[in-house]
Amino acid sequence: MKYTINDIRSHLKEGKITSFELVKKSIETFEQDKKSALALNAFLEIYDDALTKAKKCDDEISSARSAGHDAVCKLFAEKPLLGLPFAVKDNISVKGKRLTCASKILEGYVAPYSATVISRLEASGAVPLGRCNQDEFAMGSSTEYSVYGPTRNPVNREYVSGGSSGGPAAAVASDQALFGLGTETGGSVRLPASYCGIYGLKTTYGVLSRWGVVAYGSSLDQVGILGHTPDDIAQPLCAMCGKDFYDDTSADLSGKEFLSELTPYNGGDLSKLKIAIPRQFLENKGLDADVEAVFKSTRKWFEEQGAKIADVDIPVLDASIASYYVIALAEAASNLSRFDGIRYGLRVDPGEGYDELYIRTRSEGFGPEVKRRIVIGNYVLSEQFSGDTYKKGMTVRARIQREMAKLFESYDIVLCPTCPTTAFKLGQKVDDPLEMYLSDLYTTFVNLARIPSLSVPAGKAASSGMPVGIQFAGPMFSELKLLKIAKSWDNSHTGCGFPCQGA
Ligand code: GLN
Repeated sequence: MKYTINDIRSHLKEGKITSFELVKKSIETFEQDKKSALALNAFLEIYDDALTKAKKCDDEISSARSAGHDAVCKLFAEKPLLGLPFAVKDNISVKGKRLTCASKILEGYVAPYSATVISRLEASGAVPLGRCNQDEFAMGSSTEYSVYGPTRNPVNREYVSGGSSGGPAAAVASDQALFGLGTETGGSVRLPASYCGIYGLKTTYGVLSRWGVVAYGSSLDQVGILGHTPDDIAQPLCAMCGKDFYDDTSADLSGKEFLSELTPYNGGDLSKLKIAIPRQFLENKGLDADVEAVFKSTRKWFEEQGAKIADVDIPVLDASIASYYVIALAEAASNLSRFDGIRYGLRVDPGEGYDELYIRTRSEGFGPEVKRRIVIGNYVLSEQFSGDTYKKGMTVRARIQREMAKLFESYDIVLCPTCPTTAFKLGQKVDDPLEMYLSDLYTTFVNLARIPSLSVPAGKAASSGMPVGIQFAGPMFSELKLLKIAKSWDNSHTGCGFPCQGA
């Protein structure tokens, strides 16, 4: 039997299960998995204090229980995520823990403070379970560009888990964590969610603080959440969102609107929902037939619910991937200049002065994909070429933002596949960066437009049995609406959940 966050919370409240048992089970699964020839490699380490933290949660619960039912309810109202273990991508700081961004250049680096998203989750009672694999510096779509080797897909271990947040996605999909934190610059939460058959939310730019999160493309970066059901996404979101003194881009949201029990959109009546489907994504020759088939049945389901669906033309979307890779790489080249062998992690010092130290550290510390991107990023920013590349990229982005805002004056959501294909086999695209970049064909417009989007598990590919994700993208700050629509969907397409051992 499978359970969700709500179920586990009830079990914890009633003493049917302990946080210690949940964490212990995850550790056992992790240890067992490491021995397998086809190890998932979702977690890179389980934090050594995870069990102690879980035990502390259990102590809080038992002392509330001895004070009576009201005390238990009060405790869980104050700490709604009490005792729930979650997975952390290796680019989000947890105080006193290693953080490497799956790169050799951050070897030996220990985070001196926790990211705001982590401290807020901990304040809500959640237990950080461990550090998860990713593509190096979140650059990739398969979690194959990691110094620790790839993360395999729990549905079929011959396949990639998707990237760059493949580690937390696989940890959640394989029931090793209740929910996971990833990061998105161009699709890195939705894509692995789609490949692994779970939910993945990319929030509106500003909803979640980036303090303590390693920057890739700062005008695009957002933390994202991976989970088994819309509720499993909504609750951590509620705990984490809101203004943060340390991040000027953070939006002032109370978060309370996510607190109430998530109910289906408009009481389950979708007949007033207006959905736009961009032709650019469906008439695309890169779209896999299996994904197209699942998309068609999703569309049919919404039609049967009475939703008004229109095919729309947004030609500028054809340029989103090009615009994304120009802007993201330009920002990455600048952000990654801080890794110089002086301030963080690895230092290779041949004793020939600073220039040699920088050069040797960076050439030995960064992997080939990261180097490629730094070179391209610096190229597009160079005085000679920036007019043709960076400025054009920014113009396209401004147009995407305008056209999406205009579209949402008439429609509630955009519906489209999350990715053009399902998960591919390990090694299939690793040597072909352009092919890899095309995996992000349908995700990047969301980051460029700074809007939210939720990838929902929508079915399986007929030929391979691999999961297919469909995304609901909405106007800025429409997370609640997207989750409610997904809740209507989840009611008719029962999601899976975390196994509640011993309950
Ligand atoms: N695959 C995209 C890239 O490599 C997106 C990565 C991300 O969202 N972090 O840039």
